[in-house]
Amino acid sequence: MPFVPKRVVRRVARRYVAGETLEQALGVVGELNSGGCSATLDVLGEFIEREAQADATRDDYIAALQGINSRGLNCNVSVKLTAFGLLLDEVRTLERVRAVVQAAAQHKNFVRIDMEDSKCTTPTIAVFRTLRQEGHDNVGLVLQAYLKRTQADIDALTDLHPSFRLCKGIYVEPEAIAFKGLEPVRENYRRCLERMFAGSAVRVAIATHDAQLVEDALGILRSKAVPRERYEFQMLLGVTEHLRARLVREGHPVRVYVPFGHDWYGYCTRRLKENPKIATHVTKALFGFGR
Ligand SMILES: Cc1cc2nc3c(=O)[nH]c(=O)nc-3n(C[C@H](O)[C@H](O)[C@H](O)COP(=O)(O)OP(=O)(O)OC[C@H]3O[C@@H](n4cnc5c(N)ncnc54)[C@H](O)[C@@H]3O)c2cc1C
Repeated sequence: MPFVPKRVVRRVARRYVAGETLEQALGVVGELNSGGCSATLDVLGEFIEREAQADATRDDYIAALQGINSRGLNCNVSVKLTAFGLLLDEVRTLERVRAVVQAAAQHKNFVRIDMEDSKCTTPTIAVFRTLRQEGHDNVGLVLQAYLKRTQADIDALTDLHPSFRLCKGIYVEPEAIAFKGLEPVRENYRRCLERMFAGSAVRVAIATHDAQLVEDALGILRSKAVPRERYEFQMLLGVTEHLRARLVREGHPVRVYVPFGHDWYGYCTRRLKENPKIATHVTKALFGFGR
């Protein structure tokens, strides 16, 4: 990946990133809303090194929430706590995220806390717990099906009646703590999903592009007669759009994760590393068929 020229990544980026500015991102959200999908905005930038960058992240999110509100869009926000300073100062991270959650509440909106690598799992859950115990009910959490601890985490959060997003998990984790391989991760995904629906979760976001898992999830929704208000599917912008369209056609709630911002390069190289099939997009972009 380091050898793919930046201009090529930029062309691929157009599909996966809604632009560098909030205006561009809100335009993309408007199109998604018109197509029957809600959205969640992600201001790109994680693992920051200075407190001032974390303050800027907070301000960017507050501006994003104002923009969403003033345009009447169906869109919430997703935050990564490292971008709020989690690895620098947990107390100040909490203050910054709290400010975003309060701004969201003023607009009757919602903040989803993304989950990052395993050194962040415990402190991220702690921030979520603190916010919920302070009475902020417009905040939700992501859990990762590849982590062996996740079933226990679901149970430990029962008292909070959480809103969850369940994803497979994107970081490279050691075998001691993470399931490896397609089937073991799918198996734990199904188990976690069933546990979330059987437990106290108020809403569960099924975040996957894995067609088999989507089928399995639909089976679970049917067998447990899960009402529409209690679930949604989520996919990343630009990924498996046919599967997304099918779910919308069939009447399921679908939310699209919309990243935007100046760190488009870092985000796209992560997406490219994650999925070898995306090499096709790189090839197309290299030969001028990008988009
Ligand atoms: C809405 C959303 C939020 C997420 N939030 C988090 C988070 O907070 N923390 C975290 O660790 N991870 C997060 N992820 C990423 C997730 O953990 C997985 O790494 C990612 O979704 C790929 O897993 P999959 O379930 O789609 O299955 P896979 O088996 O990886 O993918 C299934 C198929 O989907 C297609 N596909 C998948 N990803 C891509 C891609 N990037 N480009 C092109 N095609 C692709 C391919 O055709 C692939 O064969 C999120 C994912 C989504 C959809």
